[in-house]
Amino acid sequence: MIDRRILLASAAGLFGFTALRWFQGAPAHAAEKFEIEKTDAEWRAQLTPQQYEILREQGTEPPWSSALLKEHRKGIFACAGCDLSLFSSDTKFESGTGWPSFYQPLPNAVGTTKDRTFGMVRTEVHCRRCGGHLGHVFDDGPKPTGLRYCMDGLALVFHPGPTSSASG
Ligand SMILES: [Zn+2]
Repeated sequence: MIDRRILLASAAGLFGFTALRWFQGAPAHAAEKFEIEKTDAEWRAQLTPQQYEILREQGTEPPWSSALLKEHRKGIFACAGCDLSLFSSDTKFESGTGWPSFYQPLPNAVGTTKDRTFGMVRTEVHCRRCGGHLGHVFDDGPKPTGLRYCMDGLALVFHPGPTSSASG
């Protein structure tokens, strides 16, 4: 006969362990629900390893590595994960940081969370449709918003053309 107390104690232990793991391992917005959700295997199949590291594991590309730094044509910068239009070339500016920078996202394009990694409080920016990590936003940008959306070029794909997001 199984002792009920032992059973309860081990169940509580298991729950505590699981809860701890969840709090430690979960990215800031893991609980958030997104329109497009895929398994890790599906994302890995779709993205390059570098894109996966940034979009799905909140990585950061090395500064000055992005081809999009020199992209000065008119067009739309879309999410590399789900192709949602995120930024217009009209709001791109030279920040001198080595990452593609914008002073404003397109309407209803991105979401933000507080990122407390590396002993700093930063505002993390992600695609509102697939939750893919894009970069961070800082308040030292140019007019008119004063914001600097510091984006990983690998998290974006550029579509030359009109700068309005008519298709969404
Ligand atoms: Zn996306």
